[in-house]
Amino acid sequence: MKNLVVAIDGPAGAGKSTVAQLAARALNYTYIDTGAMYRAVAWKTLQQHEPVTDELIVRVVRDILVDLRYTGGKTTVSVDGRDITGEIRTPEVSGIVSQVARLAPVREKMVDLQRKMAERGAVLMDGRDIASNVLPDADVKIYLTASIEERAKRRWKELCEKGYTIELEKLQADIAARDKADSEREISPLVQAEDAVLLDTTGMSIDEVVQAILKMCR
Ligand code: C5P
Repeated sequence: MKNLVVAIDGPAGAGKSTVAQLAARALNYTYIDTGAMYRAVAWKTLQQHEPVTDELIVRVVRDILVDLRYTGGKTTVSVDGRDITGEIRTPEVSGIVSQVARLAPVREKMVDLQRKMAERGAVLMDGRDIASNVLPDADVKIYLTASIEERAKRRWKELCEKGYTIELEKLQADIAARDKADSEREISPLVQAEDAVLLDTTGMSIDEVVQAILKMCR
């Protein structure tokens, strides 16, 4: 089978990284979690312990070194040589990541890296603007979504398992706010690309979603 380039976009909590990772393993492809890259920039911004302004974010991204690796079926993200994989999914990072990701200097740098990582094919990349902007010539384009209630519940379970305490209603409101910011921003907003296949995973099991993705790739 040809080495495909697969693009998966969708709103927060749709389960993109879970299913994309499993599909990548089944295909023996590299999985690229672009959200982790924007989260890395947000993480470093918070490390400055200064009010989060656009100026600060632009200063941070200017000389940040983001390294995303996928080895042995696992993604690791490091910033300036430090592994921060376990620190990028906190509510604090989620709270500012959309503000970070809407800025042109941030997107230019990350999109550049993302395109380089996809050059050799056999990749499955997930994010918000992959089919519409990063890899418009992708062989397979999927728009993965689920109801806001189900997405919030999935994220809530994930955070609880990691030991965070957060109210489900608050989390749902946070996710809705992030989706709104990501969909309404000027540069490369979250959209379903015209040629992307819609996959609504509400009520589907993880395995059913993975099988649906593999079917589209075969
Ligand atoms: O996928 P995840 O929820 O980790 O993404 C975090 C944030 O990164 C998104 O809410 C969005 O603001 C930004 N993002 C983006 N473009 C992408 C991937 C993520 O703007 N391709």
